[in-house]
Amino acid sequence: MANPVEQSLLAAARERWLAALTEGSRETVLLVDRTGRVQYASVSHSLARLLGHPPHALAARINPDIVHPDDRPRVMEMFDRILREPGTLHSADYRARHRLGHYFAVQSTAVNRLDDELIGAIVVHTRPAPDPLVDEPTGNDATSLIVDRAVLLDRVGQAAERARAEVTFGFSVLIVELERLKMLIGSYGETAVDEVLAEIASRILGLLRPQDTLARLQPGEFAVLLDGIGDRAMAARVADRIQKTVGTQYRVQDHAISATAIVGIATSERTYEQAEQVLRDASLATSRARGRGRRRRAVFQTQMRVEDTRFMAMVSALHSAVQDDQLTIHYQPVVALGDGAITGFEALLRWNHPSLGLISPAQFIPVAEETGIIVQLGRWVCREACRQMSLWNRTFGTSLHVAVNLSAKQFQDEELVAEVASALDDAGLDPRLLHLELTESVVLENKEQAIRALEAFKKMGIRLSLDDFGTGYSSFSYLYQLPYDTLKIDRSFVAQLGADGGGSQEIVHAIIVLAHNLRMTVVAEGVEQSPQVDLLKGMWCEFAQGYHYTRPVPAPEAEQLIAAGAAYA
Ligand code: C2E
Ligand code: CA
Ligand code: CA
Repeated sequence: MANPVEQSLLAAARERWLAALTEGSRETVLLVDRTGRVQYASVSHSLARLLGHPPHALAARINPDIVHPDDRPRVMEMFDRILREPGTLHSADYRARHRLGHYFAVQSTAVNRLDDELIGAIVVHTRPAPDPLVDEPTGNDATSLIVDRAVLLDRVGQAAERARAEVTFGFSVLIVELERLKMLIGSYGETAVDEVLAEIASRILGLLRPQDTLARLQPGEFAVLLDGIGDRAMAARVADRIQKTVGTQYRVQDHAISATAIVGIATSERTYEQAEQVLRDASLATSRARGRGRRRRAVFQTQMRVEDTRFMAMVSALHSAVQDDQLTIHYQPVVALGDGAITGFEALLRWNHPSLGLISPAQFIPVAEETGIIVQLGRWVCREACRQMSLWNRTFGTSLHVAVNLSAKQFQDEELVAEVASALDDAGLDPRLLHLELTESVVLENKEQAIRALEAFKKMGIRLSLDDFGTGYSSFSYLYQLPYDTLKIDRSFVAQLGADGGGSQEIVHAIIVLAHNLRMTVVAEGVEQSPQVDLLKGMWCEFAQGYHYTRPVPAPEAEQLIAAGAAYA
């Protein structure tokens, strides 16, 4: 008699042997114990392909529901006979239900080995030659299980109908959106990200039950129909599991890739007439989840529709803002730390709403970005800022620069470079006096296009500034490759300077040294107190900007500063 160690080694060898035999074949081997529980399954791919379930979902227990109702008696009879006649092979032909609902022919053969200490019954599923009458999905396991929007809507419609008819039936729809998809593509390439997306789909499938549906809505956006789950707490638990599995690292082409997802949930706690509305509500919840700290998940509430209406109102108000001259620019001086002289201004957009008053760009720029109006706004800012600075320089005999912010969306505009060139031309401003400010995410979101535009700007003599340095992702990787002239240290670092004597001083110093080594000058943003000025001077930081000098001011006030030749101590 083998000792326990030898026994388990034997068992392991047997498993490998079984796996080698059945892997890739049309056959599937299950070892089932007395209770119907699957003890071992070589379900690697064959059974999964057969039934349309991910392998690990099948490795649990035999599910009689997959047998066509008309064939069930025959299959039950086979199992009866197996129990009664140990050692004899029995088989049955029947129709099995694919996860997507259609049936296909299958033959199961089984033998009772319940006397064997390690094995229960052995069941072999064989797939006969494909029946031309049975339509089956093509493609690999995961993709064949993912439906498109139309199929999803159809199933959500059916669920909604059933929920209206049966009090006890409920359902929910989860929209799962991968965060920072463009940035991932920018960092790892499209092929790697496609692999991640495929892996995400199969991980989500692994969490679902046969009656659930997974659909792909857009690249990086999935929807899940949980059939029979109408309770928001239960739906949230599933959402949590999905977020956890999506958040587990991916190994693709030697990269360890991390991803996170936000989830919006709509449940049948509300009565739905139309499938489209369910999806719209779930999607609205998703956009709400985006701003939600750690959990990043939200269940739809009616209030969200009201807020959405407000958002739409903001969008239409923004359109008229451009036409009705409600936009203005405030200017904030950039000061040379050496002698306190103003060397230029940053142009910051302001929206003067007729009834709401001055609206902060932090509020309306994200809306403008989401709707694409930013392209129009950005063009106007660039034109107006160039015109204004050129006029001031001519009037006062100065050569001050103007810094203009560009957002990622503007780099998707084919005309961006030509538009900037024409703004400079019309204003008669020396291109070297235009500084374009962009954040790292801009490049990551549109890598090729952005790099091409940046190179064109450099050729024209325009200066480039890397804005909000230290707040983004992969901070240092692109610094070396892109032609920035200036690095702007984010005000979150500057704010801590001198406050605690802690690590922030070392960080700021390191950033400055790094920038200088890469031949960039440094602007410290958000300088509010004079001790910060002294510290920055001591670290050879060239320029500063912040409330310590002045807040951004309207053009007439900026003009007075220039006229007075203002310099700060
Ligand atoms: P930003 O580019 O980082 O601009 C600096 C922001 O910091 C400005 O906020 C400015 O008012 C504020 N600030 C300056 N000094 C201090 C200080 O000492 N302390 C503190 N706490 N804040 C200071 P603002 O004007 O509200 O702009 C917010 C953001 O909106 C800007 O951040 C920029 O990302 C965006 N933005 C503004 N104008 C435009 C524009 O014309 N186009 C684009 N694409 N974005 C713009
Ligand atoms: Ca800026
Ligand atoms: Ca900034």
